[in-house]
Amino acid sequence: MAIERTFSMIKPDATKRNLTGAITAKLEEAGLSVVASKRVWMSLRQAEAFYAVHKERPFFGELTEFMASGPTVVQVLEGENAVAKNREVMGATNPADAAEGTIRKEFALSIGENSVHGSDAAETAAEEMAFWFAGNEIVG
Ligand code: ATP
Ligand code: MG
Repeated sequence: MAIERTFSMIKPDATKRNLTGAITAKLEEAGLSVVASKRVWMSLRQAEAFYAVHKERPFFGELTEFMASGPTVVQVLEGENAVAKNREVMGATNPADAAEGTIRKEFALSIGENSVHGSDAAETAAEEMAFWFAGNEIVG
């Protein structure tokens, strides 16, 4: 298996409840290394650009307003099979469907306020990392 990088966000519902450390610990326990990390309070415009793929979905307004409602921690994670590994540790989008031990099962409040984001493929990971980080901010 190849060493990969993926992009992760700790969403405002989690930063507000002081879960940045607990969520990061779960990622690290799964063998993912944090090779870039910063706290940002994104604008509505940034949230709309980041989630442009969902702009036709009925929850787009709710999602982007939520993401601009407080601080988010944006991260790059590195490790074997990092894209799939991160998705596994995150758990299903809806915490009601998430497996035991996953971040969303343990911490998410609802399908919208679900504590974390993770890239769904290597291509989106590359785009999402470039959206938030300059190359020299990622230190492996
Ligand atoms: P993410 O992209 O945040 O990692 P995901 O890939 O599991 O999550 P997507 O289908 O890409 O899920 O949806 C993006 C985000 O939009 C979800 O994480 C959630 O915050 C929000 N969302 C998805 N479905 C709904 C819904 N039915 N109602 C409200 N918000 C939703
Ligand atoms: Mg997604």
